[in-house]
Amino acid sequence: MYANIIVDISHEQLDKTFQYLIPFELEDQIQVGMQVNVPFGKGNRMLTGYIVEITNIPEFDVTKIKPITSVVEGKVKVEGRLIQLAAWIRHNYGSTMNQALKTVIPIKESVKQKEKKAVKLIISIEKAKEYLAEFERKHNGARVRFMESLIEDEIIEYGLVTGKLNIAAQTIKSFESLGIIEISIEEYYRNPIKIKPQDEIRNVLNKTQKYITDSIKKDYDDGIRETYLIHGITGSGKTEVYMELIEHVIKQGKQVIMLIPEISLTYQTVIRFYRRFGDRVSIMNSRLSKGERYDQFTRALKGDVDIMIGPRSALFSPFENIGLIVIDEEHEGAYKSETAPKYHARETAIEIARMNNASVILGSATPSLEAYNNALTGKFKLFTLDERAKDSKLPSVYVVDLREELKEGNRSIFSTKLQELMTDRLEKKQQIMLFLNKRGYAGFISCRACGHVMKCPHCDISLTSHNNGKLVCHFCGFDQPMVKKCPKCESKYISGFRAGTQQVEEAVMKMYPEARVLRMDMDTTSKKGGHEKILAAFFNHEADILIGTQMIVKGHDFPNVTLVGILAADMSLYASDYRAAERTFQLLTQAAGRAGRGEIAGEVIIQTYTPEHYSIIAAQNQDYQAFYEQEIMYRTLLNYPPVCNMLLVKLASKDEKALETAVKTMKIGNNIKAGSSETDEIQVIGPVNATLYKANDIYNKVIYIKAVSYELLTKYKDVIEAFAKDNSNFKKISIQFDFNPMNM
Ligand code: ADP
Ligand code: ZN
Ligand code: ZN
Repeated sequence: MYANIIVDISHEQLDKTFQYLIPFELEDQIQVGMQVNVPFGKGNRMLTGYIVEITNIPEFDVTKIKPITSVVEGKVKVEGRLIQLAAWIRHNYGSTMNQALKTVIPIKESVKQKEKKAVKLIISIEKAKEYLAEFERKHNGARVRFMESLIEDEIIEYGLVTGKLNIAAQTIKSFESLGIIEISIEEYYRNPIKIKPQDEIRNVLNKTQKYITDSIKKDYDDGIRETYLIHGITGSGKTEVYMELIEHVIKQGKQVIMLIPEISLTYQTVIRFYRRFGDRVSIMNSRLSKGERYDQFTRALKGDVDIMIGPRSALFSPFENIGLIVIDEEHEGAYKSETAPKYHARETAIEIARMNNASVILGSATPSLEAYNNALTGKFKLFTLDERAKDSKLPSVYVVDLREELKEGNRSIFSTKLQELMTDRLEKKQQIMLFLNKRGYAGFISCRACGHVMKCPHCDISLTSHNNGKLVCHFCGFDQPMVKKCPKCESKYISGFRAGTQQVEEAVMKMYPEARVLRMDMDTTSKKGGHEKILAAFFNHEADILIGTQMIVKGHDFPNVTLVGILAADMSLYASDYRAAERTFQLLTQAAGRAGRGEIAGEVIIQTYTPEHYSIIAAQNQDYQAFYEQEIMYRTLLNYPPVCNMLLVKLASKDEKALETAVKTMKIGNNIKAGSSETDEIQVIGPVNATLYKANDIYNKVIYIKAVSYELLTKYKDVIEAFAKDNSNFKKISIQFDFNPMNM
């Protein structure tokens, strides 16, 4: 046996491994992640290195491979554990070891240490309040916001002011010249805001919150480690629960990783954690450069922080003693990596917790089917928070049947009911959000008169219309000619819903020329910080109506929004993907949760062609349970995850012919077998052309393998990899694996 070893983990190239022979007497002992002593170079000087891979394939002349000298005694170090984790990721999700290592260990880059600017209030609070009153009189939104923040926190990191708080550099300058603030240069690692400990006003936990925290604390102190799922509606006080438990764990000298979807990492959230935990908190975001990420890594390694908050990649914080991992909004698609290795943060967190003897807390208002299923089977422990923590009421939700609107001659994108309520809110100077659900929209065909959707007779997934005049199933390859009439009611109004956010904006401006409108979509947010700017402007009531795609449903709380209109709920319902209903339910529930976050109760209008669909009924009643029961039945009937596991194998090539040949030689079940009788335990679908068959001159085909056993699928992955490596037909083919894909 041979071991591939990295001798310097801070090296710029992690892929620089050296191969050594594992001496017979060490064979039982050697494991990935261990530190070993090895002779290095011509002079055979002794170095220590980490084992990253164990293999029986020598990479060069066996007579020249030197043996490992000895194992470094003692506990596996943090870096060693990360290497073990990389090996686990490679095994479970498929990638090269190098890709897996680069995912878990950031690469050192020689970057100059940055200085960090901060703004500091240099006048008294009384004086500051006078200024505030003046700015309020002048309705100067940005100045009011800036002043309010300064009164709360006297020192704020410059980047937070310009970024999350959305204050222009000019405004900061004007405050400076008025002698209100001074801009100071702090050392890079200093805390971003100064906390005055007496400032932290803590909410007293309510009965349910207390029950949850007490139960989890007790488990923890009894040495019980679990994965918990907190199913709590938006605003029910989940974050408060996380903070209480985080505090409990760090008091015992352990560290905590807290994952939050990037879009929810708003100024309000960040500040809340700083207030509670001060400079022991560190925040990551995906915009960090390689060098900055490396700095965060060393900071955690040195023990300078206790809590790392961030998106997916924060999971790999090199803490010595991880006690707890929290994943907020665990159902979010962003927790799955889109590049190889395509790991899921939820499962990876559970593995990290297992390696470190830590617990995991998952939280969501609309748990993923996976998590809820695990909670019901007892694999996770379930807690529920079903009331809002503050007195604000849940909104009333109405469903409008667009087929009826059409019958009554209303061809506009706004139903009569929605128009009435919009007029009402504009008169009352309250705010409105209009939400166009375009997620996963892939050109499905539906009847505007009866709501009938063209679906694949084999997969129950929507057919997608193609330019060649055909309707195609992207799952099994079934196709049929485009229809001219609805097969159900014979109406000729059969087509897709084609309105975009821009058309919605035009329609609103035509109908309400006085209203101030903001639009948030890919076009208006492509610039850096673009979406934060729009949200901040809306938050400050610089507009009456915010129109947007799914981007607007998360993050900020808008206390003055009392009406949310969901224009075409069906758009995501018929994406050609078995998760379409789940995603629709999540989006509708979240969008509805935007209404009535303040004192006044809110109303929500869901416009749809299929009011009878269970995901719409469940969203209307805000009934997760009912949704789950229907959805799990559907997954069971058609054998989709979480009832089974599914491996997507994607084959790509520039050479269409070569791809055809390769796919033909594969034959899973005949040529590719992962074991003796295992072929009957799997179901193979495809190969078929991918949704984007030809993209950037690359042709793509996909194969789906379903099996109950995840481990069996990882075996198939290994066998396919080995088959491709030894087969000359695969020279021009690249293969990618995706386990339980989020997007088909
Ligand atoms: P979630 O994370 O479930 O959306 P949060 O923890 O953010 O909920 O709480 C929603 C709001 O209710 C916040 O403004 C929070 O400060 C407040 N809140 C939470 N728990 C309590 C409590 N026990 N008493 C009073 N206010 C609370
Ligand atoms: Zn019809
Ligand atoms: Zn099909």
